[in-house]
Amino acid sequence: MAAFEETLDSGQFILGKQVDEFEKAYAELMGAEEVIGINSGTSALHLCLRACGVFPGDEVITTPFTFMASSWCISYEKAVPVFADIDPFTYNLDPEKVEEAITEKTKAIIVVHLFGQPAPMDDFVELAKKYDLKLIEDCAQSHLATFNGTSTGLIGDCGALSCYPTKNLGGLTEGGLCVSKDKSISDQIRLLRNHAMPDRYTYSDVGYNYRMEGICGALLKVKLKYLTTWTKRRQAIAAKYLAGLNLEGVRVPPALEDAPSVYHQFSVCHPNRDALVAHLNTCGVATGQFYPRPLHLQPVYEGLGYKHGDFPIAERTCEEIINLPIYAELEDEQVDHVIESFNSFKG
Ligand SMILES: *Cc1c(COP(=O)(O)O)cnc(C)c1O
Repeated sequence: MAAFEETLDSGQFILGKQVDEFEKAYAELMGAEEVIGINSGTSALHLCLRACGVFPGDEVITTPFTFMASSWCISYEKAVPVFADIDPFTYNLDPEKVEEAITEKTKAIIVVHLFGQPAPMDDFVELAKKYDLKLIEDCAQSHLATFNGTSTGLIGDCGALSCYPTKNLGGLTEGGLCVSKDKSISDQIRLLRNHAMPDRYTYSDVGYNYRMEGICGALLKVKLKYLTTWTKRRQAIAAKYLAGLNLEGVRVPPALEDAPSVYHQFSVCHPNRDALVAHLNTCGVATGQFYPRPLHLQPVYEGLGYKHGDFPIAERTCEEIINLPIYAELEDEQVDHVIESFNSFKG
């Protein structure tokens, strides 16, 4: 409330001191030179694509198993989304499948660190080098996640984060961030965010109103102090799940030492998913089924010519995935109840 009052008293409702301070605090926490406050994760991805010079007709490879916004930015620029199948354990893009999808027209790869699990970035960096491609990271779900000790978003050319209320760092408005290890990309994103206006009423490019609001920065700055503790709690809950879930036929995510997940979701697969979900419901355990339909089979992309069977692992995952409860406030007894309910499923 104090942060809100300070923002309202200051009259700086868009960008301003609160956003500056939040940007600085977040950059320090993730080990970046700077981060740029944006009005949503979707806008942040769009700015990453613009800063990487993706043009109409360019092909951009991404995963069919993600939230739609991972691919919107490609469509916004009239570039062509090209999908590749995923790894059945991490649910992230499979680098080998990505390499098979590369053509003369490929300009960039958008890697999504899905559910907070960092993708195998050493493989993707190598691919980007080998084929001279831009590498964009969708870090909407991977706040503070690292790969080999480097924060996601700082490994490829640039990264986009989301502060939508459900994310690991969630605001009370829309919100997002861009980050890049490359100063020239950060400079360009900063410019594009605010109408591409280097001086007042001079426009150097086609810009956007993708600015973060003061009240958003003010709240996120307060919540940021707790993000490390909340992330550790998510990881502790996940460790309990990994140790406790032992139902026949269940597939659990791997715990990778060089790429620890920040568990935006804790997701397992089971061939009898719908009956298991119904059973969990009767035990008072709510679950999610993200994502029910892969991107290549969405009506909006009918024109791309994909069909059922093109990406069997992604398609099967949509039918088998269960997202179990995970958030910092969840208590040990509740986690135990989820585990007992899960393991007691007969069917
Ligand atoms: C939430 C999300 C986005 C979009 O972020 P918004 O802030 O909601 O616009 C993009 N990609 C992924 C993977 C997401 O989960």
